[in-house]
Formats: sequence, structure tokens, C-alpha cells
Amino acid sequence: IKPCIAQKDVTLHILKTFGIHMSKRLGQNFLIDSNVVAGIVAAAKLTPGDAVLEIGPGIGTLTQGLAEAGAAVTAIELDRRLLDVLAKTLAGYDNVKVIHGDILKIDISREINQEKYKVVANLPYYITTPIIMKFLEDRLPIDILVTMVQKEVAERMVAVPGGKDYGALSVAVQYYTQPEIMFLVPPRSFIPAPAVESAVIRCTVRSEPPIQVASEKMFFRVVKAAFAQRRKTLANSLKAGGLDKDEIIQVLEQAGIDGRRRGEQLSLAEFAAIANAWTNLK
Ligand code: SAM
Repeated sequence: IKPCIAQKDVTLHILKTFGIHMSKRLGQNFLIDSNVVAGIVAAAKLTPGDAVLEIGPGIGTLTQGLAEAGAAVTAIELDRRLLDVLAKTLAGYDNVKVIHGDILKIDISREINQEKYKVVANLPYYITTPIIMKFLEDRLPIDILVTMVQKEVAERMVAVPGGKDYGALSVAVQYYTQPEIMFLVPPRSFIPAPAVESAVIRCTVRSEPPIQVASEKMFFRVVKAAFAQRRKTLANSLKAGGLDKDEIIQVLEQAGIDGRRRGEQLSLAEFAAIANAWTNLK
């Protein structure tokens, strides 16, 4: 029987044994709270044999929880120093495969050629948004993404129109998935303790988008323009986004939206109406 890695003394012992100094630059904050690991595993609703992609296994803390739950885990770690550690800490789990690589550069479909898989990760916070957006935009065959992120990022992902947290990330995440904040995690659950609070968020990927758009490219172009300068009115944002005065009048009229409103007040359906009207112009 293997000791549970998600404990402070075990983690410190592993780090000391391998002479590892944790890298701030790589976002290394390792979990030392077994309840949090159990909570993440539960949020992923795993059944034995489920394929799981883990980003940044570190010293194998969460990987161990996933492996114990019977998942077939592919874990991608950038820090070469940790490969020897993982070989040791995860020895005996034949349902785990560790790969050295950068999650933003690696050809994921080559590493995990499953019909469907889940993504589970305690993300390195310096690249949270690019990682989440990559998985969603590349339309990888994922059904669920369960990730630890900064609490503030989790709040942006689930935000509704009208609040300060609502932005392009909210729209994109909600277009592709149904996000839910599962639970909050305090700094003391990690070493070293990060400066911010964290949250575990579960994004269940939608089989169909929640709204009909004629062109996804246009939809995201409108969203980007609307949030590029939050203080601008919608009409001014569309102007900055490339429409002339007449076109703006036409688009807003067809969409039935008042150009004096601001992007941060618009729902996904309203962004879609503008994008569809814009597509119709051409
Ligand atoms: N999973 C471990 C845990 O829960 O304790 C470690 C999580 S730690 C927050 C993030 C991990 O991601 C670190 O091990 C770090 O080296 C790794 N990492 C950082 N950037 C990465 C990248 N671009 N691709 C893959 N892994 C990365």
C-alpha cells in the first residue's frame, strides 16, 4: 500500500529525497490536502476505465487519486526534473502514463487517442486561460473538465451579464460548456501556499451550443470587440470592430439591440443576434 501523497509530511519528504526546489515560474503549488484531492476526483464523476488527461501532475498528488479511482490516466508534465519523481511515486499504478511536454504545444490527440476523455487538473495559474481556451476551441473530444483555478478566474467563468466579472472568458466558457463552481480551496491546502484563494470548477461540455450562430468566427469577433474597451457603448465597440456608421445602424436594428448599451450587459443570445445580423450584411 502506497502512502497518500496529499499530505504535508509526505510531500516534503518526496521533495527532499529528490532535492527538488519548487519553481514559482512553472506555477508549482502542490496539494497537501487529501480531502481536496478526493473532492476533485468526485467532481470528475469517474467510472473505472475512464480516460483522463491530467495537466501538470507535479509529484503525482492528484494523479494518485485518479489512479486509485481506476481511471486510465495520461499525465503531461513540463518540468523534466519531476519525471524521475513521478516514476517513483506512481510506481505500481499500471493505469498511469506520464509524458514530458508542454500542454500548450503537445499534439494532445496523438497522446490520448480515445473517443472521449475527461480533463482533470490542478492548473499552473500562469497559463490557466490559454489552457482552458485551447481545450474548448480545438474541440477536443472532452466531456468534462474539472480544474483547480484561482477563485477569481472561476468567478469570471460562471459570471452572468451585468457584473464586473462578466467578460469574453465568461461568454466563451458558457458557449462551449456548463460551468459550475464545485468548492473553494484555501491557500493552506497547498505548499507553498499561493497568494490567492482557489476554486475547483467543473465544465460540462455541451453537445450543442446554447444559441444558434451563423458563424462562430463572427460571434467571437463581436464578443472580442464588445469587451475590448469595457467603457465603450456597443455602437462604438462595433465601430472599433470594423463596421461603418450605416452598417452599425443596420446590424443593431436587425438584432433589435440598443447601441447605447455596453457589451458587459449582453447575453450570449444577444451577442449571437448581433453576429448573425453582421453575417447577413455581407
Ligand atoms: N498536480 C499537482 C498537484 O495537484 O499537487 C501539481 C499542480 S501545480 C499547481 C502545476 C503543475 O503543472 C506543476 O507540476 C508544473 O510543473 C506543471 N506545468 C507548468 N506549466 C506546464 C505546461 N505548460 N505543461 C504541462 N505542465 C505544466
